[in-house]
Amino acid sequence: MKYQTVPDYHMHTPRCNHAVGSVEDYVKIAIQRGLKEVGISDHSPMPNGFDAAWRMDASELPDYLQEVEHARDHFSSQITVRIGLEADFYPGTEEAVKSMIDAYAWDYVMGSVHYIGDWAFDNPDEAYRWDAMDYEDAYCDYFDLVARSAQAGMFDVIGHPDLIKKFGQRAPLGSIRVDKAESLMLDAVQASGAVLEISSAGLRKPIGEVYPHTNIVKKAAAMAIPFCFGSDAHAPNEVAYAMDECLHILQGHGIYELVTFEKRQRRMIAIQEIKEQ
Ligand SMILES: [Zn+2]
Ligand SMILES: [Zn+2]
Repeated sequence: MKYQTVPDYHMHTPRCNHAVGSVEDYVKIAIQRGLKEVGISDHSPMPNGFDAAWRMDASELPDYLQEVEHARDHFSSQITVRIGLEADFYPGTEEAVKSMIDAYAWDYVMGSVHYIGDWAFDNPDEAYRWDAMDYEDAYCDYFDLVARSAQAGMFDVIGHPDLIKKFGQRAPLGSIRVDKAESLMLDAVQASGAVLEISSAGLRKPIGEVYPHTNIVKKAAAMAIPFCFGSDAHAPNEVAYAMDECLHILQGHGIYELVTFEKRQRRMIAIQEIKEQ
């Protein structure tokens, strides 16, 4: 199935120390691939040295904004560039993150959970810790944190909402506890007015699957929770990665619209199939 392109709202810059390419490189590829809108959403600074190796420093934020604003203005006749940020949700950092968010007129802010306690569960170097984990507990703890990220009330988008599966460990099939934790997470997202990201990044990881799992897409659709799309590009070539596959999943669950953001205001756009001749 082929679709008209939709905005890709998740891409990084080398400031986070694990991405390559300038903002201009990402935007140029997006234009080549027929996108009309993109959002740059690099890993935000965090307080107290939290996860400092994997994100920009607070001192780099002005330069980040300047680079994205420059690309936005320079390419404005070809593509709309949105200014975003991927902030981490980590209990205890909420106030500092909120003041960082309030200090600039973002188009959107994504909130992501990458840590359970001191476990950076999406870091390959810490994947060995799964050996000592009860999978059911890990999934429940993860969804509980995602629920709390929505309840914090400061994020427009909940990033890759089941990232916990990244390295392929799955919750026990049919786990009632995990099912409940997922549903409570979705209740919190719905109550907060945030939207979920459907992310193609999982297709490039050991799990080999879109985030979130189709069970979550199905529940979210029944609750009328909207989605936006993100490739989580850490290299320009990943922009719009597997967009059609993500849109096909949404459409298969009766979701025919996606969210776009401007200055943190939401607008819906239609997912449009391109009919084969
Ligand atoms: Zn990253
Ligand atoms: Zn992330």
